[in-house]
Amino acid sequence: MNIILLGPPGVGKGTVASKLKEKLSFPHISTGDMLRENTANKTELGVEAKNFMDKGILVPDEVVIDMMKERLQRDDCKKGFILDGFPRTINQADQIGEVVKIDKVVNLQLDDDNIVKRLSRRRLCKKCGAGYHLDYIKPKKENKCDKCDTELYQREDDKPEAIKKRLEVYREQTVPLINYYKEKGFLVGVDGSGTPSEVLELAFKAVSY
Ligand code: AMP
Repeated sequence: MNIILLGPPGVGKGTVASKLKEKLSFPHISTGDMLRENTANKTELGVEAKNFMDKGILVPDEVVIDMMKERLQRDDCKKGFILDGFPRTINQADQIGEVVKIDKVVNLQLDDDNIVKRLSRRRLCKKCGAGYHLDYIKPKKENKCDKCDTELYQREDDKPEAIKKRLEVYREQTVPLINYYKEKGFLVGVDGSGTPSEVLELAFKAVSY
């Protein structure tokens, strides 16, 4: 089954995707993670993407679409995949729709106040990328990753100015995808305001019907 997780930044797409991956055994493919890996390794793609990402705006479609077309052709995607953060524009959706069949689009919903709270309190591991939240997914040791004991950091684009910009970009460029997928009959809405395990349960039900 090929699944897309749609929703505003900070709604918990990454958390839900990583748990769905454990339950369904499909790869979790996050464009944000792939781009951050490229920026950390200072690849040509990463250096180009960083300028856009730090400002909270979208990386140009051609860059992301080529990266995703290549990723989705790999063997581990044959039985299914979970896309997190892609597509984010109608053009991306059109282009990916030409190469893969989409079965379900889970639209995670959350109001702006809660989005800001979630993003500004989010932390990531510098080494393994594991995600934490200072209120909901607390690390056992202060500011250290539970898995590899490396220091946690705040993403540049989780700072207030970039959050504002990312929400604007989401409204302008990504919200139109809700109707796009509704019209195709793929969309299922899920309330993203609960705890991570509550949201996961709703998302799991949504993909199971
Ligand atoms: P995320 O981790 O999904 O919040 O993405 C972080 C940043 O990566 C975004 O603000 C964009 O700059 C870039 N990005 C991630 N996915 C996409 C995409 N599908 N299209 C364009 N840019 C993206």
